[in-house]
Amino acid sequence: MSDCLFCKIIAGEIPSAKAYENDQVYAFRDIAPMAPTHVLVVPKKHVPSLAGADGLTDAELAACLRACAAVAAQEGLEGGFRVVSNCGDDACQSVKHLHFHVLGGRKMTEGMA
Ligand code: AMP
Repeated sequence: MSDCLFCKIIAGEIPSAKAYENDQVYAFRDIAPMAPTHVLVVPKKHVPSLAGADGLTDAELAACLRACAAVAAQEGLEGGFRVVSNCGDDACQSVKHLHFHVLGGRKMTEGMA
């Protein structure tokens, strides 16, 4: 999508701090980190959110979760990590390209909401 921020990042039109990449997924450091490790895992194919995941193959969707685990391992998050995907306005999704936040490097708060 030509007007999508994350599509532009994937295309290299907007700079990012790459953390991981494979054929299906690109991952980069969040510009406003909320934990010592805060990486965004993004499918290279544009879908707006998890609610639009029918636009991905099962393999592409699975690749996102496998990439989250790969990022966590690469970042040394042996103590644990949290994966969050905000979907829609009630969840305060601000970028309308499916992404998974991988957060770690400190003890997470118990509440998720
Ligand atoms: P969400 O609110 O779940 O849609 O998450 C979007 C995330 O994208 C936020 O955590 C932002 O800090 C992050 N973000 C926005 N612009 C950039 C950028 N240019 N590079 C890296 N992260 C970004």
